[in-house]
Amino acid sequence: MTHPERTIEQPARNAAAQTAPENPPPPSDYKTIAAQFAAAKRAKEAADADRKSTDSGKNNSDKQTGGAEDGHSKDQTSARERHRAALEAARRTAYQARWLWTAGFWLWLLVVHAVGIAYFTSGFLLTRLVLEEKSACDVPPTGAGSGADLLPAWEGKGSVEGGCWHPRTFERAVVVVVDALRYDFAVPVGDGEAFHDAFPFLWETAVRQPDKAFLRPFIADPPTSTLQRLKGLTTGTLPTFVDVGSSFSGTAIDEDNLLMQLRDAGKRIVHLGDDTWEALFPGYFEGNLSRAYDSFNVWDLHTVDNGVIEHIFPLMGRTSEWDLVIGHCLGVDHAGHRYGPNHPEMTKKLRQMDGFIRDLAATIDDQTVLIVVGDHGMDSKGDHGGESDDEVEAALWMYSPKGIFGRTKPRPPPATAKIRPVNQIDLVPTFALLMGIPDWAAIFSAFAAYQEATLQKCKSLWARFDLKFMVIGIMALGVIALLVYVSKGDDDEVIEDEELDLAEKRLEGIAL
Ligand SMILES: [Zn+2]
Repeated sequence: MTHPERTIEQPARNAAAQTAPENPPPPSDYKTIAAQFAAAKRAKEAADADRKSTDSGKNNSDKQTGGAEDGHSKDQTSARERHRAALEAARRTAYQARWLWTAGFWLWLLVVHAVGIAYFTSGFLLTRLVLEEKSACDVPPTGAGSGADLLPAWEGKGSVEGGCWHPRTFERAVVVVVDALRYDFAVPVGDGEAFHDAFPFLWETAVRQPDKAFLRPFIADPPTSTLQRLKGLTTGTLPTFVDVGSSFSGTAIDEDNLLMQLRDAGKRIVHLGDDTWEALFPGYFEGNLSRAYDSFNVWDLHTVDNGVIEHIFPLMGRTSEWDLVIGHCLGVDHAGHRYGPNHPEMTKKLRQMDGFIRDLAATIDDQTVLIVVGDHGMDSKGDHGGESDDEVEAALWMYSPKGIFGRTKPRPPPATAKIRPVNQIDLVPTFALLMGIPDWAAIFSAFAAYQEATLQKCKSLWARFDLKFMVIGIMALGVIALLVYVSKGDDDEVIEDEELDLAEKRLEGIAL
């Protein structure tokens, strides 16, 4: 929007008005206009220079002589100063007021935020309620306190050797955790994927010898990280997402758990592999037989597995020195993290595990149960932690040459993890029952109702939502969001005070 004609014409007219009072005829061509403009400019410059010199001359004479005009000029200057000071003060007050309002607004916002978040979290917080109570061998769940004993009699009843609440089935156990053993790694799929059909031993035994081995989907509770899973597998409780923060600094478990019961019953536990166990159960393991390996280097596929394999076989020939051996292999998990499941390295790892378990099963005697579990699965990229099907669907395989896993109608293991799955937390009572340590109501029919009530109770204790507080929190946060949105325009606003601006301009003019 420029109007060259107008910008030229305007000063030209002014100049014409200044230099020629008797209104000459309007200029007809461009050259005349330009000439007139130049003349006007010169005249203005001359006038400006003239005024400046008279001003400075006046100032000089004022300083030198202090004549009669001096008083008048002084009055004028002080009036100007006063005016300037008044304007300054007005501006400062306006600025201060504005600053206070802004600071107050943000402070208020901060307070409302804090209150909103406090309300929300106090309604939402999934704090785990840890029960201090421990199961005791001589206090069966039946008729505790009432004096009635619903359990039938058996030899050695009420002792760890005979079985606390149920006749003991095995003297020893070997538990191998194959980290991230997803269920479909262990069942025949036949789709040509690198990770399928590389670990057939579990399926084969479960199909051929259903009384000696069984394979089932083993469903993890999220978060599917190893630390959380180990807690679930040993305590039989549900983890919380609040816990996940401590996933990499495993703190010792102090609530009732399998290993604590075994240790307190004088059982000797050997641990090989992933050092997370050492962090969770410090001082639980036989120092001279146990070997812990660093679990953090996910690029290293072999050190942990080779360590477990190297040290577990000699133990099988020295069964008098231990009651429980835990081996935790990390190769499959690390192959997933490093390459993803669909990679030749994963196939190699699974084949290695297949050979390992095959050889291990051959060393197991009648008094020992061999349990192979995946603590979680992995997604299509080989990661885990979440609650997708691939992450929660692990495998559980139990084996004993005793042939004790009788079934009225033997069926092949489930083809997918959607069929007949078992929960990972249920391993704890089953295992405790097999080992004769106290944990679970022995006779199912008598305790179905009791178990249901307990489960309800536990569920209500696990995740406690205070809906009222949560709604208040969400409303507070919503109000804040709204206010922030509404006040967004104010931020760009500057002090729009025409009078102040005008006064400032005037002062600047005077200063010149
Ligand atoms: Zn992992």
